[in-house]
Amino acid sequence: MNRNQFPILSREVYGKPLVYLDNAATTQKPLCVLDAMREEYLNVNANVHRGVHWMSQQATELHEAARETVRKFINARSTAEIVFTRGTTESLNLVASSFCEGFMKAGDEVIISTMEHHSNIVPWQLQARRYGIKLRVIPMNDAGELDMEVYQGLFNAHTRLVSVAHVSNVLGTVNPVEEMIRIAHAHDVPVMIDGAQSAPHFAVDVQQLDCDFFAFSGHKMYGPTGIGVLYGKEEWLEKMPPYQGGGEMIATVSFEETTFERPPLKFEAGTPDYIATHGLATAINFMTEIGMDNIRAHEQELTRYATRRMQEIDGMRIFGTATNKDAVISFLVGNIHPMDMGTLLDRLGIAVRTGHHCAEPLMNRLGILGTVRASFALYNTKEEVDVFVDGIKRVAKMF
Ligand code: PLP
Repeated sequence: MNRNQFPILSREVYGKPLVYLDNAATTQKPLCVLDAMREEYLNVNANVHRGVHWMSQQATELHEAARETVRKFINARSTAEIVFTRGTTESLNLVASSFCEGFMKAGDEVIISTMEHHSNIVPWQLQARRYGIKLRVIPMNDAGELDMEVYQGLFNAHTRLVSVAHVSNVLGTVNPVEEMIRIAHAHDVPVMIDGAQSAPHFAVDVQQLDCDFFAFSGHKMYGPTGIGVLYGKEEWLEKMPPYQGGGEMIATVSFEETTFERPPLKFEAGTPDYIATHGLATAINFMTEIGMDNIRAHEQELTRYATRRMQEIDGMRIFGTATNKDAVISFLVGNIHPMDMGTLLDRLGIAVRTGHHCAEPLMNRLGILGTVRASFALYNTKEEVDVFVDGIKRVAKMF
């Protein structure tokens, strides 16, 4: 991998070479993505979908080509199933809002899990207040693996939807979503997958998973901020009511009645961030040229290597030891507060995340207030892992 694509990785902080291990929060952007967006602003910029003029048509072509790139990336059947959103959070809010409005009533239930990000908890709670629906929560074992027996037992006549993370942003657990979807479908219940931490790291095939909805964010996979994707099976998107109203999403409007566009436009009110969709498509092409399997192999090796080296450290506690685990390592050392560890590592040029990682219910389950989290991307190296492990040892010695 050519790190020169990421000039930011060569900078220094506090006079130390930057070691960027906060990739689960957001990744750095390669030059090709920045160039593509700059090029579009400089040469093509015009609002999409509504213009007869040349530039508007060029911009629309780039925007719709980006939709096709996303379709191919996750192997959706049709571009009608690819809705552009601001990110995973908006995708989850869209489904929570439209699905509940369309298909749920008081007493109905949504199944989520203990390890969800707040963005897969709070949107359901907002709807729960509005419609009187209930949340059921799949528990997990101490390794951070979901209890599949309890999961099966949660289904009843009121279950309307399952919404779970593909990969935990805290534990790195890769949940057995294919099996979970099979079980849900056996009960005629559709499934939403939060793919914020899976799409950046390994190949996702929505047809093979057979998920009904799948969400991810561009900024966590080398693309720009403010753009993300909701995949939804066409049959669901056709039936779901719109999420927001405005331009682009309508067929006809009068003061008496409005008819809507078909998906995906039905869910894309207002001017889309068409520069960002082009940036996202460029990022996807960047990843697929490297190869998702190569990205996975590299990150798996780094995660294994880092885990092994971290276990050399006295008092090291790693949270999340699932057999199937991705490129995230959450930890604590002795009784060093995660904020202290994070702040002191930062002084050594090492960027990690500390705190509850937007997963407070998971922290409660683990009986802790927070962790330090290192998360890897395709550009990280073993040398950086060595600097990171030496950094933890230095900090530990100070306490
Ligand atoms: N879900 C998971 C598992 C995440 O890790 C994150 C972000 O950290 C989100 C959802 C929310 O993503 P975004 O802030 O890009 O909408």
